[in-house]
Amino acid sequence: MLQIRGLGKTFATGDQALAGIDLEVPRGQILGLIGPSGAGKSTLIRCINRLVEPTQGSIRLGDANLVTLSSRQLRYQRRRIGMIFQEYSLVERLTVMENVLSGRLGYVSFWRSWSRRFPPDDVARAFQLLDRVGLYDKANNRADALSGGQRQRVGIARALAQNPELLLVDEPTASLDPRTSRQIMRLITEICAEQDLPAIINIHDVPLAQQFMQRLVGLHAGKIVFDGPPDELNEDTLTAIYGEEDWNSNSADEEAPEAEGALSA
Ligand code: ADP
Repeated sequence: MLQIRGLGKTFATGDQALAGIDLEVPRGQILGLIGPSGAGKSTLIRCINRLVEPTQGSIRLGDANLVTLSSRQLRYQRRRIGMIFQEYSLVERLTVMENVLSGRLGYVSFWRSWSRRFPPDDVARAFQLLDRVGLYDKANNRADALSGGQRQRVGIARALAQNPELLLVDEPTASLDPRTSRQIMRLITEICAEQDLPAIINIHDVPLAQQFMQRLVGLHAGKIVFDGPPDELNEDTLTAIYGEEDWNSNSADEEAPEAEGALSA
């Protein structure tokens, strides 16, 4: 269970990105973070794994308060948090398998990681995960030979290779066409359900969030202004979250061609 209390972040520039955030995410729950650009979604996700240092409040994952950890403790605790990024963050010149195994780097010794030798159990687990995300036969391909959707599947397998207790997902479909976006969202949500894994997904596309999330949290100017199931989103709640900004921008375009595999032929 993730428990956030009174979380705030004011940047050195004086920009207050988050204020008074209270949020609990129980085991197995998938939560979609929505809100206009600049609302604080990325900052919230980055505070949880301390890529951004919070200036107020506490973030508890199980027994640990992530805000007060020393850098050594933080390295250990970060293993418990899997991260999936918008731009995949793969090492392009390494193989798919090497990228997935890099999710284990927090566990293996320096010597092993330096020499890129991994325990057989880690390799077996990585093959299992590649199978789950539909890339078993691409294990030896270089990451830069994959399509966007395939790269994100590698990103998902890498995050899971950590055996995380929480998944943080930052705009996973922002670089993908609508059909591939739905496939990726379906994959992430199915895997979370299979593993009873809680997830916070920063998602710009409201219809996609409504389709796949159990719970939506709307941020506006660094504060939570909506917290509820997707069917409670209506004109009023959407206006509270987005103001007058268009919240439908990404949703249409059903005719876009399937990009999966386009670059790997
Ligand atoms: P979102 O992900 O919802 O688009 P962000 O979390 O990126 O929003 O940004 C929230 C606010 O924090 C914005 O006003 C943004 O300008 C500010 N901000 C984000 N990162 C920094 C930074 N490194 N330095 C100063 N201000 C920042």
